[in-house]
Amino acid sequence: MSSTVVYLAYLVAAVLFILGIKNLTKPRTAVRGNQLSSLGMLIAVVVTLLDQQILSYSWIIVGMIIGGGVGTYLARTVQMTAVPEMVAALNGFGGGASLFVALANVADPSMGGNTIAQLSIAVTVLIGSVTLSGSFVAFGKLRELKVFSDGSLKIPGGTLTNAILFAVGLLLVLLHTNAPSGALILLLVAVAIVLGLALVLPIGGADMPVVIALLNSYSGIAAATAGFISGNTVLIISGSLVGASGLILTQIMCKAMNRSLTNVLFGVMAEGGETIDADEVYAGKVKSSSPEEVAMMLETAERVVIVPGYGLAMAQAQHAVRELANVMEARGTEVKYAIHPVAGRMPGHMNVLLAEAEVPYEQLVEMDEINPQFEQTDVAIVIGANDVTNPMAREDKGSPIYGMPILNVDKARNVIIVKRSLSPGFAGLPNPLFAKDNALMLFGDGKKAIVELTASLKEAD
Ligand code: NDP
Repeated sequence: MSSTVVYLAYLVAAVLFILGIKNLTKPRTAVRGNQLSSLGMLIAVVVTLLDQQILSYSWIIVGMIIGGGVGTYLARTVQMTAVPEMVAALNGFGGGASLFVALANVADPSMGGNTIAQLSIAVTVLIGSVTLSGSFVAFGKLRELKVFSDGSLKIPGGTLTNAILFAVGLLLVLLHTNAPSGALILLLVAVAIVLGLALVLPIGGADMPVVIALLNSYSGIAAATAGFISGNTVLIISGSLVGASGLILTQIMCKAMNRSLTNVLFGVMAEGGETIDADEVYAGKVKSSSPEEVAMMLETAERVVIVPGYGLAMAQAQHAVRELANVMEARGTEVKYAIHPVAGRMPGHMNVLLAEAEVPYEQLVEMDEINPQFEQTDVAIVIGANDVTNPMAREDKGSPIYGMPILNVDKARNVIIVKRSLSPGFAGLPNPLFAKDNALMLFGDGKKAIVELTASLKEAD
């Protein structure tokens, strides 16, 4: 295939990626965006495979069968609720793939005197290894594996250790670029793997969304630098697109959490979170309710705001919630959904869930827009959301989530909180909302409770 045809095809692929991302910015055009990007990727892959530089197809086919098999199996079997950790793992695999591309080229003698290629190899090894180990820690934290989330696994020295590891990593990159050496690269892999662990292990509380977005960006940057090793333009372009969009997402997440990136990465969370005694917050103040009682309240409500959180995904209650909203709307009640940018376990988690239940997009209201409306809301129904409604973030300066913008559900006339117990959310903190005068707990699995509530409301008709 002539190089002009290859470049033209890569250009078409790049344009399709950009159009795809543009379409992904709106729910209505998101499916088309995915299709355009996939078409771009198909063109890029086919052209690369037909390119004369390919030496042997047999290994590629073996790789496709193994990778495609594992991917298909995982995609078909993974629970919807486990998608966030799968995304974290996929970021890790992305970094790992770039790392292996770089390692394979270390042994290539034709790269010998090529300074750009050697620099690219070393940088790819550094970023790819950090992404690989960091993403698997993120995976473990999202899975709530004890070893990652209870703080027992620590790399001593904090920020100083990170700074030293980073400096050593950079030094190794420079040394390798100057005089390429397999031993230096192996040392760099070890240093960068530890750096990835050291960076992500201490990050906890509610800061994980920022880290996931950042690791996503790293996986793109690693792919882009891997593109420089082999001079593959489409890899450079697609990697840069992932890197840049990941960075933009990181910025959006930081804004949503009211945290600066340096604070998240180096500031570690404010102390004191673990010492807040849940009994003190809740003792004698929490009131529980029944579906019948809540249905009576909804009968007379004119404005209701539904606040979904991670528990909605766990309970797979999105269809049940839509049904409840239908019943309320049929009675003339105005229903809206309040969307917090970090509710759930991945960016856009609630939008995806509610779209699955075909909730009209116009009813999803972003945090800044819905917050002033809570005071005029008769009932706020919080379903499986916890951290994103925690008033400590507004009121308690010593709290690890202080400063994070929340949904001000406590300002509504009545708040119903649907969850199974008084257990904390991802940040591990008690929630004073549950003890407020205007709050009632509706204990139970999210889906079951909402189905019962809907049945009670229907009976009232
Ligand atoms: P939280 O994690 O704060 O709380 C979820 C609540 O859901 C729990 O308290 C749990 O209580 C309840 N729950 C679990 N299962 C069920 C069920 N079957 N039925 C009913 N309730 C259930 O969720 P939020 O959405 O409020 O906050 C998200 C948190 O996750 C934030 O701290 C955010 O920073 C973090 N995070 C967000 C990411 C993102 O990108 N969106 C990524 C990583 C972390 P109980 O056990 O009592 O039922």
